[in-house]
Amino acid sequence: MGKDILKDKKLLRNAWIEINLKNLEHNIKEIKKYIGNKVGLTGIVKADGYGHGVLEIAKVLKKNGISSFGVATLEEAEQIREAGFRDEIIMLGLVPDFVNKSIVKNNIIPVICSYDSAKKLSIEAKNQNKVAEIFIVIDTGMGRIGYISPDRETIHEIKSIYNLPNIKIKGLFSHMSTSGEIDNDFSLKQIERFKEFSRKIESEGIELPVKTLGNSGAILNLEDSYFDRLRLGIAMYGCSPMEEVKDLPFILKPVMSVKSKIVFLKKVPAGFSVGYGRSFITKRESVIATLPIGYADGYRRTYSKVGKVIINNQIVPLAGTICMDQCMVDVTDISDVKLGDEVLIMGEMCDKRIMADDIAKSIGTISYEILCGFGQRLERYYKE
Ligand SMILES: *Cc1c(COP(=O)(O)O)cnc(C)c1O
Repeated sequence: MGKDILKDKKLLRNAWIEINLKNLEHNIKEIKKYIGNKVGLTGIVKADGYGHGVLEIAKVLKKNGISSFGVATLEEAEQIREAGFRDEIIMLGLVPDFVNKSIVKNNIIPVICSYDSAKKLSIEAKNQNKVAEIFIVIDTGMGRIGYISPDRETIHEIKSIYNLPNIKIKGLFSHMSTSGEIDNDFSLKQIERFKEFSRKIESEGIELPVKTLGNSGAILNLEDSYFDRLRLGIAMYGCSPMEEVKDLPFILKPVMSVKSKIVFLKKVPAGFSVGYGRSFITKRESVIATLPIGYADGYRRTYSKVGKVIINNQIVPLAGTICMDQCMVDVTDISDVKLGDEVLIMGEMCDKRIMADDIAKSIGTISYEILCGFGQRLERYYKE
């Protein structure tokens, strides 16, 4: 695909992202088949769809029956509305009160964990002559946002929110902190806590039509966390929802690939140093290729020492430290290497693959961070 792109479009740099929307569709179908059709899904498209492009992802979600989106910022929500989507949008984090106007106007559903913010939202909704839907967010063990205890005071406060004019509680919302781990102990506690909260709220006559707790990490072995809705993020983008589980009971395909081209190629003698700090010095006569991609594109500098790319279906190591906008690779062992050869930074080619999970693991982070990082500056091309 890369070659066609370069013919058709004016690529400003020889480094780009390819997004395979078919693979996204495949992943959604696999996950739906696994969890069954009783469970609803909210597609999480925060951080520009984990670096994949929020609107393109939203379109595929909708086509596959997911018409609820989770975002992190008002801009993302507005972007979705401006593109003409009328589907549900949930704001996953807390936002300042001054954005209430847009929240109400655009029918964005915020998560709420204080009477004060609910009251302000109620006033704005009344001004606009609308009803604002909200999720009550509870902290069952993430330690991030939400009511932490279903004590009398809290239940009373939730009741006061329920009684506010022009406010409708859509449901109960909480997030898991260890769902992606094999050890279930704490997750089960979170589920129990969630149920306890639900029971106490409902016993006050407050309806909670949509209960949502689990994320991708919960898909595999936390069925009890499904409730009405799973909030699906990383797994639909094709990364493993559980770091330690290698053999998933369904097949996920990577949606994002990162590619580049060799823009400079040189033969150098032994003892030649490459890059900042001279951390790489050739031990033999070598061929070094330069690629126009660097840490400002999300190609993390800490990856330099262990990093690999794929050229002509062969795995080759990085040489020296990744620069801001460029990096070098040692292509000495590739016989037929040429200027302009395509380079796979992340993705699959024939039988070779370098996955976001692999890069993440080798530098002590998670696939999410790798995807978001690449998504920030590189141009994206979509494969339907
Ligand atoms: C990011 C996020 C999700 C999605 O998590 P994944 O692990 O990517 O599935 C779900 N819920 C909330 C509140 C989030 O912030």
